Amino acid sequence: MANKSDAIKGGLKQKVIFKSLWGIIKHPDKGLILFDTGYTDRFYKETKFYPNKIYAKLTQVTIKKEDEIKSQLNRHSIRVEDIQHIIISHFHADHIGGLRDFPNAILYTTKSAFEQATKIQNYRAFTKGILKGLLPDDIENRTVLIDEQSTSFQNDILGIKYDIFEDQSLYAVPLPGHAAGQIGILLATEKRSYFLIADAAWLKKSYEDMILPNPIVKFFFHNWSDFKVSLKKVHDFHQKYPDTIIIPTHCSETTDLLVNKDFDFNAL
Ligand SMILES: [Zn+2]
Repeated sequence: MANKSDAIKGGLKQKVIFKSLWGIIKHPDKGLILFDTGYTDRFYKETKFYPNKIYAKLTQVTIKKEDEIKSQLNRHSIRVEDIQHIIISHFHADHIGGLRDFPNAILYTTKSAFEQATKIQNYRAFTKGILKGLLPDDIENRTVLIDEQSTSFQNDILGIKYDIFEDQSLYAVPLPGHAAGQIGILLATEKRSYFLIADAAWLKKSYEDMILPNPIVKFFFHNWSDFKVSLKKVHDFHQKYPDTIIIPTHCSETTDLLVNKDFDFNAL
């Protein structure tokens, strides 16, 4: 829960619910791929004591067991072992809360995101939105640093993009600022193109009209000027490619239209 006036400057002082979504992608060869994992109730355990408790107080999170990723996948007969690949947009707790549910998956992230998450001291991790207890113990052994290991291409507006599976099916695009080394992903289904931008913008209006969040949120942001550059890229991309569906993780206006409870991969 947050104030709309925090999400976009000049927004009304009404409460808006920020849903924390994750994406599932069916790849012809790689099988099921996740983009982030959403919250899990591990968040409560990890924020029971100070200083992490401050994180919980500021975000006012409600997590229902049946909404957790593992429960949702189970309801669709998808086992955790079926997930072999997880692309991490950034290491905030609402995006990586479910990582520990997938012990076999290869994780994809950027060097700067990975280094910050793994090297930051416990006592100040929460100031960057990171709860180290959410990271799998063996994260070092099964993480691919895409900006070091993947082939890169140039996009006219977004700049560099990384071909995650080396088959031009799915590109990671650096969108840093909100968090260190944050990425979005570009992909196309048989029907249309999508750009999942994670938290490069919280609401549609933000990238459409270049409206920044209230500066009050700077506390949790990694780098404000990088954030502005990333938001401008999303804005420009939308101007040039209006047919590509841009999906900010927390924008209900966008995601409510796309979420289908049956995991109908052919619908999108
Ligand atoms: Zn975030």
